[in-house]
Amino acid sequence: MLSAGNAVQAAGVTEPQQFCKSLAHRLAHVNEARCNAAQLEVGAHSVQKRPLLVRDFPQTETTGGEPPRVLMVGAIHGDELAAVELVFDWMHRLDTTKERSVYWRVAPLVNPDGLFARNPTRVNAAGVDLNRNFPAPDAATQALKYWITKTGRDPHRYPGVAPASEPETRWLVEQIAKFQPDAIISVHAPYGVLDYDGPPEAPHKVGYLRLQPIGTYPGSLGDYAGLSLGLPVVTLELPQSTRIPTKEESSRMWADLGDWLNHHLPAHRHTAPAQTASAAINDEKRDFLEAAGEPDVPIDSSWAECIFTSPASASRWPTQTTAGSSLFGTCPVTSGSVRADTGAVASVPWIRAM
Ligand SMILES: [Zn+2]
Repeated sequence: MLSAGNAVQAAGVTEPQQFCKSLAHRLAHVNEARCNAAQLEVGAHSVQKRPLLVRDFPQTETTGGEPPRVLMVGAIHGDELAAVELVFDWMHRLDTTKERSVYWRVAPLVNPDGLFARNPTRVNAAGVDLNRNFPAPDAATQALKYWITKTGRDPHRYPGVAPASEPETRWLVEQIAKFQPDAIISVHAPYGVLDYDGPPEAPHKVGYLRLQPIGTYPGSLGDYAGLSLGLPVVTLELPQSTRIPTKEESSRMWADLGDWLNHHLPAHRHTAPAQTASAAINDEKRDFLEAAGEPDVPIDSSWAECIFTSPASASRWPTQTTAGSSLFGTCPVTSGSVRADTGAVASVPWIRAM
């Protein structure tokens, strides 16, 4: 439960700020200021309790209808550092552009545990290749079979015991279900190609990347969102895992993506306005509080990962887990101290700004 990534946080430092500090140490081209400027919010947590961060960039242009939505994700594979850096570069572009006709949701780092491993890993902390863990219809029967027969049980491509067994995968599936994107852009490395799944027609090039469909693997995001949900999934495979494209390359890729999106996204949607990432997070907090019988706790209060002294007190709060003889769970804190009425809390290893 307690892991190296869960440093004790000083009161007043938010979880994204704490995370940005660590990320700046790991990445060459994303410093703490750039990361903080991205104003990321915590959507969920990884196996090792690192935050899965997300940011919405709603449309700025009002054209008299609901704008199309695009979900961009980076580093489903934790060892593809250049993917995270490129997505940060593009978030900066989104932030500084005055005209946005698309509603963007961006999750720059879906596999933080892999990225923060001593030597970054493709798989998550449970040894699962998240890009083989999506709940596509064929994944339950084919993903493990494919892994055994086609990859020779390659440990870098293990699909997990069952589809969506991993919290990172479940979170992304939930993002797709709630946000209902019209297209998904997933940034990877290091194969140096452009891949595509879903309805026609694919972009022929994105910057220096040329279309070269590499097939669909059972349980991949392309299999799930592209083939089973029928969404266009553009996969950008940067040529190197650790070298970020130059400014010029990045600009050309961004321009090509914009062109393709302009021609292939619906001009308007007929559905309800998108719920913002923060509103969705607040909804989850509200549900959580109601389930805990604490509807009056302000939803903007901080949260702590707590150790409970008895099973009875732990049972008041959802998401408890056991580690050895200790019971862990989440509980609200006010002004940096655990709420007195939780009573049973023994200690607070780290603050969780949920
Ligand atoms: Zn990858």
